[in-house]
Amino acid sequence: MEPECYPSSILPHTSQLFLDYTESTEPLTPFFSIAPTSKRWISEGRKLSAEHRARLADLLALQNAEFNGGPAATANIELLTCTEIVGLSGNEQGQLERVRWRSRTGAEVEKTIRNVFMFIGAEPNTAWLDGGLALDNKGYIMTGLNPGEAVAPVPFTLQTSLPRVFAIGDIRCGSTKRVAAGVGEGAAVVSQIHRALAVLQGDRA
Ligand SMILES: Cc1cc2nc3c(=O)[nH]c(=O)nc-3n(C[C@H](O)[C@H](O)[C@H](O)COP(=O)(O)OP(=O)(O)OC[C@H]3O[C@@H](n4cnc5c(N)ncnc54)[C@H](O)[C@@H]3O)c2cc1C
Repeated sequence: MEPECYPSSILPHTSQLFLDYTESTEPLTPFFSIAPTSKRWISEGRKLSAEHRARLADLLALQNAEFNGGPAATANIELLTCTEIVGLSGNEQGQLERVRWRSRTGAEVEKTIRNVFMFIGAEPNTAWLDGGLALDNKGYIMTGLNPGEAVAPVPFTLQTSLPRVFAIGDIRCGSTKRVAAGVGEGAAVVSQIHRALAVLQGDRA
């Protein structure tokens, strides 16, 4: 398949203000040997002297102000804490039209909203393990504890409070909650399991 390029002006829901902003590159051009819309723009910017970078930053700040950036751009954002979404309704085309939410007091509000971005998850599902493995006060599995006599000579940083039971990834207390970190722990735990098994076999011999 051949990639094709389209101007951002044909994207749905692109405001005229945003288009004007992205097309207003003329004041920035003197700083660069290439067009400010080019992909190399950022690396070119890194090569600028500190003085030039400061002038460019001032210019961008001014441009933002002229385009109503800063506080004016966020004036219509309302932060609702202790609130949960309890209803989404839409039309027959499957498009979102209205969102209903409930505050901690129980009061419900519904408004016309066409886009919702969600960040859900990141809750450890470990209630069923409580009592079996040591958990921290948020429910994440503790690892690297002194496992006692069963497996001892080397530190097993990914071992839980139960010898030869290991935990990796988001569920582990203290882990970096990122995909790459989880993959890394997955690789690291293999050698720890091998060592734990070797210790076990040595004990049995
Ligand atoms: C909204 C959101 C956005 C994120 N964005 C990024 C990002 O941009 N970049 C990034 O690197 N990381 C991001 N993360 C973090 C990333 O998703 C996690 O670090 C990663 O998925 C952890 O992998 P994991 O295998 O440890 O756990 P998970 O991916 O959570 O996998 C655990 C699995 O176990 C299953 N499970 C749970 N309980 C049981 C049970 N009792 N029995 C059987 N199965 C069970 C779950 O259903 C799930 O499938 C984001 C996380 C969230 C929530």
